[in-house]
Amino acid sequence: MSPLRIGLGHDTHRLIEGTEIVLGGVRIPFDYSLAGHSDADVLLHAITDALLGAAAIGDIGDLFPDGDSANQGRSSVEMLQIAYELVRKKGFVLVNLDCILFAEQPRLGPLKQTIRQRLAEILDVEPDRIGLKAKTGEKVGPIGRMEAIAAEAITLLEKV
Ligand code: MG
Repeated sequence: MSPLRIGLGHDTHRLIEGTEIVLGGVRIPFDYSLAGHSDADVLLHAITDALLGAAAIGDIGDLFPDGDSANQGRSSVEMLQIAYELVRKKGFVLVNLDCILFAEQPRLGPLKQTIRQRLAEILDVEPDRIGLKAKTGEKVGPIGRMEAIAAEAITLLEKV
């Protein structure tokens, strides 16, 4: 049996009136915010699900239910760290993480390195284990019309 496990995560949050968004634990001043029960960090939610999926321990909604007031406005950094701790308790460590952010605006190219560094810090791994790409919606669909921002993440875990 291989000691490797792959996991996939996806998330979408609606853009609403506001003054900043949080992506990958980085606060970004913007003309909109992301709607959500927690701080709506769509990238960290996708990463959390990818980690939980690889270890087959449910999903972010199982761990942090919407209906629980303790999760209102909760930091997605904290949720990701709790999820990764559960993954490590099952004997897995992160080999690498790759992600894509889908946003028409803000332009994320200049922020990619900052977000990668922050992800490395949150997960306590070397930045060269983390890939991050940013894509626009080419002005079509909910991303392109700036109705939403989405993220996808894939993780590889190794049982140690
Ligand atoms: Mg979410």
